[in-house]
Amino acid sequence: MIETVTMEKKLDAYSIRKQFPVLNREVKGKPLIYLDNAATSQKPQMVIDALVNYYSNYNANIHRGIHTLAEEATLAFENTRDAVQQFINAELRKQIIFTRGTTEGINLVAYTWGRQNIKAGDEILISVMEHHSNIVPWQILCEQNGATLKIIPISDEGELLMDEYEKLLSDKTKLVSIVHVSNSLGTINPVKQIIDAAHKTDAIVFVDGAQSAVHLDIDVQEMDCDFFAFSAHKLYGPTGIGILYGKKHLLESMPPFQGGGEMIKEVTFEKTTYNELPYKFEAGTPNIADTIAFKTALDFIHQTGKEKMSRHEKELLAYATIQLELIPGLKIIGKAREKISVVSFVIDELHPQDIGTLLDNWGIAVRTGYHCTQPLMNRFGIAGTVRASFAVYNTKEEIDELVLGLQKAIKMLS
Ligand code: PMP
Repeated sequence: MIETVTMEKKLDAYSIRKQFPVLNREVKGKPLIYLDNAATSQKPQMVIDALVNYYSNYNANIHRGIHTLAEEATLAFENTRDAVQQFINAELRKQIIFTRGTTEGINLVAYTWGRQNIKAGDEILISVMEHHSNIVPWQILCEQNGATLKIIPISDEGELLMDEYEKLLSDKTKLVSIVHVSNSLGTINPVKQIIDAAHKTDAIVFVDGAQSAVHLDIDVQEMDCDFFAFSAHKLYGPTGIGILYGKKHLLESMPPFQGGGEMIKEVTFEKTTYNELPYKFEAGTPNIADTIAFKTALDFIHQTGKEKMSRHEKELLAYATIQLELIPGLKIIGKAREKISVVSFVIDELHPQDIGTLLDNWGIAVRTGYHCTQPLMNRFGIAGTVRASFAVYNTKEEIDELVLGLQKAIKMLS
């Protein structure tokens, strides 16, 4: 009896794989082994079907039309907002703003809240492990408004130095923008602790959830973050659609990001008044098809079970870490105690790109380079890493193939 319960709880990656058509293909005559999930995950058939169904049966512009197709499209589009609200446990549906992705969410806040609130002499804190998209928008803002960007350092294991963080916080700090989970190291940052400390000095906190939303349970109310952004394409959903969550009083106080249709209440040449949340931040015809299909991706996650998924990914991480560390000369970059299923590594003096190119010849897709985190690579004194990142459909056999591939690559390149 107990055994049955345990069996039921375990995720069957082999049957899940059947839902992902691309996993049936071959690359250079070998079965595809897709280990680049931190860049973007593959899409299940149900997500692909949702896109085809929209274009085949009810393609229409939303909100404006009174005809049946427009009503159907509007309903499906707005259903995604409800699903996202539940997914991150936001208090209100109007706190969910559709963007193109995490990058646009960060830029939206930098260009609106940032321009309105950041003044000369103010400080913005980010960390060494930020993705370029959580560095450059703040850098631009600081250059324009005379503020200073301060950097939270990390340990050799790839964990934030929390004492240093607390020392950097002061009454000059207006914003802390922090990555929830590092795309290069896999580190899970203690965001609750970061947020609580920032709030004591009245700074607000932006959490970059690009990598965390698919692996961790997200509860924005419990986290108490002021902003949270993520991208659908890393959650088995389509590209070109992302989410920005914000606290209501902040979103209401912010000026619009872009002007155009949909974001207005009334337009005259003398004065324009703006629409209510969330539409104030959604100018123009949005990405209707991908937004609708994102709801289907969230359905896929619910059906599969997020907890089961994350348990499976943790198992893959543990297995890969042990197997990879057995390879002579291989060094894992990022050994935080709390990690998601990302393993970045270097092998002696071998160039990551050469390793990646050879692996691709054997059908294995990994990412190589600095993963949009150049300052982080500088911190470790390396030009880049090879990164394998695992999703719900990956298996231990695929990790064995990766290890074999690496052994072969080392022989060929040494
Ligand atoms: N932050 C992190 C941590 C990421 O991994 C990524 C995507 N690699 C982004 C931000 C940017 O996401 P997007 O390109 O989907 O806007």
